[in-house]
Amino acid sequence: MRTRARLVPVLALVTATGLLGAAAPAQAGQAPPGKQPVAAGWGGAVSSVDADATAAGLEVLRRGGNAVDAAVATAAALGVTEPYSAGIGGGGYFVHYDARTGRVETIDGRETASRTADAALFQENGTPIPFADAVTSGLSVGVPGTAATWEQALRRWGSRSLDEVLKPAERIADRGFTVDQTFRDQTAANQSRFQDFPASRALFLPGGQLPVVGTAFRNPELAATYRELGRRGTDALYRGPIGADVVRTLQHPPVDPASGRTARPGKVDAADLAAYRVRFQEPTHVSYRGLDVYGPAPSSSGGTTVGEALNVLAAGRAADLTDPAQYDHRYLEASRIAFADRNRWVGDPSAVQVPTRQLLDPAYAASRACLIDPAHALTSPLAPGDPYHPAPCATAGPAVAEPYEGQSTTHLTVADRWGNVVAYTLTIEQTGGSGITVPGRGFLLNNELTDFDFAPLTPGVPDPNLPGPGKRPRSSISPTVVLKDGKPYLALGSPGGATIITTVLQVLTGRVDRGLSLEQAIAAPRASQRNTAATQAEPAFLASPEAARLKELGHVFASVPEIGAATGVERLPDGRWLAAAEPVRRGGGAAGVVRPTG
Ligand code: GLU
Repeated sequence: MRTRARLVPVLALVTATGLLGAAAPAQAGQAPPGKQPVAAGWGGAVSSVDADATAAGLEVLRRGGNAVDAAVATAAALGVTEPYSAGIGGGGYFVHYDARTGRVETIDGRETASRTADAALFQENGTPIPFADAVTSGLSVGVPGTAATWEQALRRWGSRSLDEVLKPAERIADRGFTVDQTFRDQTAANQSRFQDFPASRALFLPGGQLPVVGTAFRNPELAATYRELGRRGTDALYRGPIGADVVRTLQHPPVDPASGRTARPGKVDAADLAAYRVRFQEPTHVSYRGLDVYGPAPSSSGGTTVGEALNVLAAGRAADLTDPAQYDHRYLEASRIAFADRNRWVGDPSAVQVPTRQLLDPAYAASRACLIDPAHALTSPLAPGDPYHPAPCATAGPAVAEPYEGQSTTHLTVADRWGNVVAYTLTIEQTGGSGITVPGRGFLLNNELTDFDFAPLTPGVPDPNLPGPGKRPRSSISPTVVLKDGKPYLALGSPGGATIITTVLQVLTGRVDRGLSLEQAIAAPRASQRNTAATQAEPAFLASPEAARLKELGHVFASVPEIGAATGVERLPDGRWLAAAEPVRRGGGAAGVVRPTG
């Protein structure tokens, strides 16, 4: 996310349409829309990591669009301003609450492997290839799902055309957004690989240099690509010329021969693109202290893992604890247990049997919560349980290691005046994706297939997340919608690879168990336990009195600078929407409402 020093009142954000409209030439150094981490008011709300993107969503809401229309507009704008985290070269998970039917439904828009892929996709002569070689390659590029997600979401729940909701993003791409330090830093982190691909170099290293803070960054090729999608629909990508360019690029990564780099070619072809379908599927659901919590079902592990951890907390009546250190202990242990199960049991359900229902069964959680000792931390790696045959405190088979996952991605949350809500997390996997830009099209290709395990994590233990034909790699993405008495109460999500799950869990429990406001829960210091020996924690968490107590219980910590970049919305008791974003992490996010009440 891009950092902007200037803070302007919410009203300026609300009137930011003008900055996106015809009277807004993007000169170098032009002030971007202001951003605020919190806003409250009427008419709908948008929260994202980026002020231009939030303004794009508010513009659509103000013109009468609904939450789905605004979510797609916001996501498309993020494809312009956050091109290293999101875009039509990637995928994501979209969770929607429909005020008319009262139902929560989801779209799994995850990237897929080629139908010709098998478990040895990332192996040579029976040995996994180096992870770093897979990261910047055509081999790691999955069939992108984001454009199809936008089209299908609009078709099912939207009220505007794809063409119309892409307009604000096209304007940002044509006229430019203002480069800030974070965008420059993210470019610098990718510089060595971007410069080896002429199309990435030309777009992201203009004149061979890093983009300069304060100047306008334009992407007219992406604007043209969006216009083509708007005009022709996503067939232009899945059956047409944009797709042909995607296939050519990933099959023959256009690397500068003088660079000395080799990039492995991918297997995805035109038939794979034509076969791509998003999945509409039932959300995961758990009931937590009278609230209904919904998330994405596998192929993401987000919904099952957040849900199991909540059930473990409920089994131990954690919310009744008055000692904050003891609550944190339960939070870390619940997460540890849920990750032990996730790593053993969750993959793409079209390829492997996934015990989604069993993992979310409160009786199973009770059998796992039995492991928690109030006086001592558990030791990781903890063995998984057997959700098919729950038995108190039983474990099933050896512990499964925590696999590597990237740390990029972006989350947006939208609500409208009718009470519809969207929580949507989209990604191209790691920051900068594969590093490979589709020549002439203005967007980066994902490297999502690196989310597969390249070989079984534990010899002899079935691994649900090996590559396979047409298979979706397991995700951690956790866009979450919470209903109270059947009405929307909260929606939230975060980027951050596998830490997404713990961030969503920590923000959610901060709000509903710890008495924090949504903005306080988002800002609060974070710790992330994912069945590893050391719990990752931010410096502010480590400085807390609770951390000292947790160490006495045997918890071991590893300091990390920051975890996640959450956004959320909450329906206030008087019917207004509260939008909240990070105040500081990743430079701070942008929350806005259509008619602010201060
Ligand atoms: N590829 C990751 C996932 O789907 C997301 C990457 C990230 O958040 O950085 O879980």
